[in-house]
Amino acid sequence: KQEERTNLYELMGSANEFYQRQLRYHDAKQAAVDYLKNRGLSGKAAKFFNIGFAPPGWQNLQDSLANDDESLAAMVTAGLTIKNDQGRHYDRFRNRIIFPIRDVRGRTIGFGARTLGDDKPKYLNSPETPIFNKGQELYGLYECRQIRQPLKRFLIVEGYMDVVALHEFGIHYAVATLGTATSDTHLQKLFKIAPEIVFCFDGDEAGRRAAKRGLELVLPIIEDGQQIRFMFLPEGEDPDSLVRKEGKDGFELRMQDADGLSEFLLQTLKDDIDDPASLEGRARLAKLAAPLIKNIPGIALRSLFWQDLKEHTHIDVDELKQLAESEAKP
Ligand code: ATP
Ligand code: MN
Ligand code: MN
Ligand code: MN
Repeated sequence: KQEERTNLYELMGSANEFYQRQLRYHDAKQAAVDYLKNRGLSGKAAKFFNIGFAPPGWQNLQDSLANDDESLAAMVTAGLTIKNDQGRHYDRFRNRIIFPIRDVRGRTIGFGARTLGDDKPKYLNSPETPIFNKGQELYGLYECRQIRQPLKRFLIVEGYMDVVALHEFGIHYAVATLGTATSDTHLQKLFKIAPEIVFCFDGDEAGRRAAKRGLELVLPIIEDGQQIRFMFLPEGEDPDSLVRKEGKDGFELRMQDADGLSEFLLQTLKDDIDDPASLEGRARLAKLAAPLIKNIPGIALRSLFWQDLKEHTHIDVDELKQLAESEAKP
């Protein structure tokens, strides 16, 4: 098993080098170079993130890396090659920009790949493999740690391009999940390195849904000493588009306004209540919030959340706690 993993790391490393070479030398490279230029990416950032190009064609990578049946089988395990029902092998990534995903030690473990045009899917990721677990890895984490600046916080964004654009503008603490929801493993990983995490989702329906999922994820695991905030972008913007319009300072100014966890929790619940200031509205807020607050593990945090809920509802903390107990019963 260990030997298989060692081989896979090596294979992914070779694929990474192959894709980077194609961006420099392949006959069809111009479309990819133009695409990256149009999106405002510098050669320096492309290099820092090891961005590459999978050229059009069915067997470019295979022809370059597979020299026998055994190595071809390894490429299938690595998710680089797909074997169809007729037993034919072809490259998974074709005519796409390649974003290598690296583990904390800098080893390439997977790829994200964006189409140059409008074809679907827009992004294609490596499948799960013995060395690539999507629910645990974060794009950009390795790169964040290469910057010799102490990390005070992480910004969790949705996309590869967001991470790269923010980096380009001097924001070196952004990471992205790999087309999956943020997991508690992700958060534990980040909190081992920095005490603050800011969620920043796109200003669209998908982004708002993801923020709510983030809230549900965070409440039952947050400990004293950890800080989580939620940043909302204007409709239609994502971090990539916004930082290009407003620059580092503009973006960081917005980040200062990000909602605290309690603020975001109470606001989210209030959004579903018709008249949250009315007596019945406040009772409903208490009923919805109390069971969630009860489960916060951080003792100091939990106490402060009770205070906040008291201020919003004008109900005593002791009674809110009783309410939580009765709501928690089946
Ligand atoms: P771009 O700026 O390159 O158009 P984006 O990152 O803004 O892309 P979104 O549509 O906002 O793209 O999606 C956010 C993230 O979700 C993507 O970066 C990608 O990781 C993931 N994603 C989007 N579409 C797909 C897809 N069809 N399949 C898998 N993952 C996807
Ligand atoms: Mn989006
Ligand atoms: Mn985008
Ligand atoms: Mn986006």
